Amino acid sequence: MIQAGMEAEASHDHMLTSEYASLLAMEFNRNPVVNDEAAFDLYAPPPHPNPSTLPARPPVVTIMGHVDHGKTTLLDTLRSTSVAKGEAGGITQHIGAFSVPVPASGNMSDPTRTITFLDTPGHAAFSAMRARGASVTDIVVLVVAADDGIMPQTREVLNLVKNSKVGLVVAINKVDKPGVDITKVEHALLAEGVQLETFGGDIPAVPVSGLTGQGLDQLVETISALAEMQDLRAEREGVLQGYVLESKVTKGLGPTGTVLVLRGDLKPGQHLICGTTSAKVRVLTDSSGKPVKAAYPGMAVTVSGWKELPNAGDEVLTGSEADIKKAIANRLRKAEMESTLVDLEAINEHRRTERENREAEQVTKGDPSARGEEAAQKQPEGPKELRLVIKGDVSGSVEAISNALEIIGNDVARVKIVSTGVGDVNESDIQRAKAINGTVIAFSVKVPRPVEAEAHSQHVPILSSSVIYKLMDDVTARVVELLPPIT
Ligand code: GDP
Repeated sequence: MIQAGMEAEASHDHMLTSEYASLLAMEFNRNPVVNDEAAFDLYAPPPHPNPSTLPARPPVVTIMGHVDHGKTTLLDTLRSTSVAKGEAGGITQHIGAFSVPVPASGNMSDPTRTITFLDTPGHAAFSAMRARGASVTDIVVLVVAADDGIMPQTREVLNLVKNSKVGLVVAINKVDKPGVDITKVEHALLAEGVQLETFGGDIPAVPVSGLTGQGLDQLVETISALAEMQDLRAEREGVLQGYVLESKVTKGLGPTGTVLVLRGDLKPGQHLICGTTSAKVRVLTDSSGKPVKAAYPGMAVTVSGWKELPNAGDEVLTGSEADIKKAIANRLRKAEMESTLVDLEAINEHRRTERENREAEQVTKGDPSARGEEAAQKQPEGPKELRLVIKGDVSGSVEAISNALEIIGNDVARVKIVSTGVGDVNESDIQRAKAINGTVIAFSVKVPRPVEAEAHSQHVPILSSSVIYKLMDDVTARVVELLPPIT
């Protein structure tokens, strides 16, 4: 220690610089290897040693459930009642989340409490995004339509919740419909292993109607009570950690992203890093479009001032401008290395397929140098691939469509996503697809005429639609074409 020259500052929690650590290692006859890469990235601060001393924060809630069971209607009604109850004049915007005040009730100690609802798409194709929603959320509200009961996506949500720490509240919806049998739904839930309070368990179920608003106050109170039991707390000051829920280019503001704050505070003037982009925060606005001075844990605000569009689902951290610059350079270098590897792999595979096709052709032409047996052995191993280059309008939708498409296929033929990106289809997308013998997916983006012509001349197929199901169907049809004929 004395030789390492740090006797004056050594204490049990002293953080070693890489130089000191190297000196110490050498002191013990070891040969240190310094990983400078790690030093150039920014990481979320470690968990607080004593979380129970931190200030309370609002719960973050996601609404999930089977398609058509009324998630969107419920969210819309919750949002509009919250606007009606809040200050007049706010125009609600879809930013990925909104806050609802908890209605004043006798047992409420803090009347200013709110609940943050995420309005991530609740569609079947967005299941992966919903899964991510659950990872930043504290409570899942599972919507079950009383006239339809338990359906496949209801079970999917139950599985998701079962394997996580999130709290569960069931909203038995559409109870305004004549003849609905709430008890029947409760029994069906019990049969799925959901221990409802009615049957002595601890999962609350609230009958509601998203259409008429019936039961919504009780739903909000139930969520609030569960949140209180979860004792949700976070630092309201200090280093920020958050996640981007959505991002888009807004007229006059440039690239904007909704950031859900998990820890710390978010204020104009701060420097942010998210993936490989950065921001000097210009303006923060809430879901009613009003500018806010700061955002704290549990709040979601739209942030302007980004250099480029941040990706939905990416972590947001603060740091000095210089540290962020270094971290971005580091992340870009890493990303470039990874994408070069992917490209090389794809190109090699393309070459291999071409060679194999040529050889197979020679066999069928009766080339004596290529015997059928040998050629059969050279068939590529593993499933056949429909390789995709995916472009979409915003990062959330790119992710959603990627997640929906990548699961298409089986052990014999399947989808392989080679690259994804935000924005209109361009010439380099066509070149990339050409290099891998792939197909371009254009989800809610334009394919400019010259690019279309280029694709045509290069024989690169483009599947373009703004309907996720249509693309799923088209891709499925192409994967089916890859399957060997049934003999
Ligand atoms: P999502 O797919 O889960 O988002 O479902 P939607 O909110 O789009 O609702 C699907 C359909 O059910 C729409 O026609 C709604 O008008 C209807 N719906 C939703 N909630 C209710 C409700 O509480 N009562 C009744 N009667 N219909 C509802």
